[in-house]
Amino acid sequence: MRVAIRVEGVVQGVGFRPFVYSLATGLGLTGLVGNDTDGVFAEVEGPQAQVTEFLERLRRDAPPLARIEKVSSRAISPARSEKSFVIAASEATGPRRTLVSADTATCADCLRELSDPADRRYCYPFINCTNCGPRFTIVRDVPYDRPRTTMAPFAMCPPCAAEYHDPADRRFHAQPTCCPACGPRLTLDGDARDPVEHAAELLRQGKILAVKGLGGYHLAADAAAEEAVAALRARKHREDKPFAVMAHDLAAAAALAEIDEAAAVLLTSPARPIVLLPRRDRAHVATHTAPGNRQLGVMLPYTPLHHLLLARTNRPIVLTSGNVSDEPIVYRDDEARDTLTGIADAFLTHDRAIHVRTDDSVARPFRGRPMIQRRSRGYVPEPLTVPTSFPRPVLACGAELKNTFCLAQGKHAFVSHHVGDLENAETLRSFTEGIEHFRRLFGIEPRVIAHDLHPEYLSTKYALDLAEHDDGLDLVGVQHHHAHIAACLADNGEEGPVIGVAFDGTGYGPDGTIWGGEFLIADTHGYQRGGHLEPVPMPGGAAAIRQPWRMAAAYLGDAAAEVARRHEDQWAAVTAMAAKGINSPLTSSAGRLFDAAAALLGVRDTINYEGQAAVELEQLADPLESAAYAAAIDTGPGPFQARGSDLLHAALQERTSLVPAPLIAARFHHGVAALIEAGCLTLRDQHGLDAVALSGGVFQNTFLLGATVTRLEARGFRVLLHSRVPCNDGGISLGQAVVAGRAAPASRS
Ligand SMILES: [Zn+2]
Ligand SMILES: [Zn+2]
Repeated sequence: MRVAIRVEGVVQGVGFRPFVYSLATGLGLTGLVGNDTDGVFAEVEGPQAQVTEFLERLRRDAPPLARIEKVSSRAISPARSEKSFVIAASEATGPRRTLVSADTATCADCLRELSDPADRRYCYPFINCTNCGPRFTIVRDVPYDRPRTTMAPFAMCPPCAAEYHDPADRRFHAQPTCCPACGPRLTLDGDARDPVEHAAELLRQGKILAVKGLGGYHLAADAAAEEAVAALRARKHREDKPFAVMAHDLAAAAALAEIDEAAAVLLTSPARPIVLLPRRDRAHVATHTAPGNRQLGVMLPYTPLHHLLLARTNRPIVLTSGNVSDEPIVYRDDEARDTLTGIADAFLTHDRAIHVRTDDSVARPFRGRPMIQRRSRGYVPEPLTVPTSFPRPVLACGAELKNTFCLAQGKHAFVSHHVGDLENAETLRSFTEGIEHFRRLFGIEPRVIAHDLHPEYLSTKYALDLAEHDDGLDLVGVQHHHAHIAACLADNGEEGPVIGVAFDGTGYGPDGTIWGGEFLIADTHGYQRGGHLEPVPMPGGAAAIRQPWRMAAAYLGDAAAEVARRHEDQWAAVTAMAAKGINSPLTSSAGRLFDAAAALLGVRDTINYEGQAAVELEQLADPLESAAYAAAIDTGPGPFQARGSDLLHAALQERTSLVPAPLIAARFHHGVAALIEAGCLTLRDQHGLDAVALSGGVFQNTFLLGATVTRLEARGFRVLLHSRVPCNDGGISLGQAVVAGRAAPASRS
């Protein structure tokens, strides 16, 4: 019998055709296998038992990086005079629905060759195979084949070509395969010496190095060298935001941070994210690496170059995005020279182009499962599958900060790599080019454009502009916190309704106030506001975000005498501004409540990166303390209001009574958790819902998250958390896509 088979999912660039080839030939079947724009197609012919076994093993024994979403097969008429099994040439026409895989850390087989002096790729920094290496960052177009990647200029030498064409070889059709004779070359400022050896020597001397990686340039320095790390901060204009550290293996990482099983799984996963971990007291890292932080971002090598470099330096290195301040990571060689020359002492670079810039991903384990905080290199562009198909293709433009966009079609939502804060021309260019690239790669022509309600977001303006030039597009505005909850639902493969608790910094509210401490009754279609933190003025608007002490003034007025003393010169003006409502928009933001608490405890009065005050307040909190301050919930007609000010007054009183700050910080956190618990109980009584979805950047605070989940579960709630997309604004685009995708088509006349 003969059957035609179609396999959909992540099946290109992952060794799927060679796998099918060896499976079929092993079973004595004839036929063919090939890539097309839909995925992999195959035809096999032979006795029924063997064909059945083939179909079984096709799913069961698929290569490690493949993700099969669907296998369909149908009987067709046998071919005449076919004697073997062949791999068919790729075709580049027709609709494109295939999936490109993410970049993948160097596999064990390649590492073995890398360290084998007898191997022809010994110490070759670009070694890869069908199971590992660059993918998304080098793909220009689909189907995924070498000519459509940035490896196109490198003509394979005869030995590499022989491996590439040999179905029995582990590099059979490995598109980026290469060797020292034919592949990319590493250079260190044109020096004739061994670039890796020389680079390691410079790092050991305390120099700062620009290192071209998978998704862009990094800046590297010896993580234990105080002067080098301090110089890196100064030159990069980055004051306190922590740097990540790369350790050469799990044992070296364990000397820096506490690693449990979930953390080890994340650290060694093929995506190799930066993992946020509890830092060891005796960790030998410079104070400037992660100032004032009990956490440390640790990652393991994910390219052969990293492996070689870390083996030579024999010590952990700081590895941070190559950029200045908040600009996106640089990825083109010329811009790297322009931007990083004042920062790096030397450039360790190569001649394989990066097509799409992608930052390192950031994740942390929470109660044994991963929580992604920045989803980028290693995860993107693999789609999330949603329970109900999108009726029409959607482009969701995302939020302003930590922007991602999302293209969705069928059951797939392609959330983009981390684009960054849409505040400068370079990030905006990254955003618009990224959207074009994704549209081309996945063949999605959006008919629905989703955007935030904030009229000043550049992502909103982009959406409005698109719709203005195309009458056929439906424009759907999605409220920020509804998008957060919808993202959390989609992350969990659910559709609601749930009690959605969205706690974050700021989001545009349809009532003209700034939302950010929201209890919603929500599903993927709509929401109603069930309750929120009591609104308070933000004196000076955006200035209050940069200067948390202003929030202490707004919440407590002159009662916050200790804060007032530190800001004598501006205090009267700021409290008056808040009292009279001049340039003081009202906000129910949970982030601002944490800011006020941080200022009150003398933790931080002004910030130099987003969320800094809350991060430092979390660090301060005593993990052994379990008492909680109480906050009243005012119910009445309409949404309830939870009095965040009660928590601050309690904190102030204890501060005045000289209770140690770590206890106050802990009791404040537990107070917020208790407030969430009380809010959810109120809404359960009103709406009969017992599932709670927690979203918004405030829940990156694991002290708060842990306390909240414990309380809610003790009350019998089923709690939905983020795992695959961030709870911060990086998840907004997914939520927008899910909501807008469900919206009825607008009638146009
Ligand atoms: Zn490999
Ligand atoms: Zn070669």
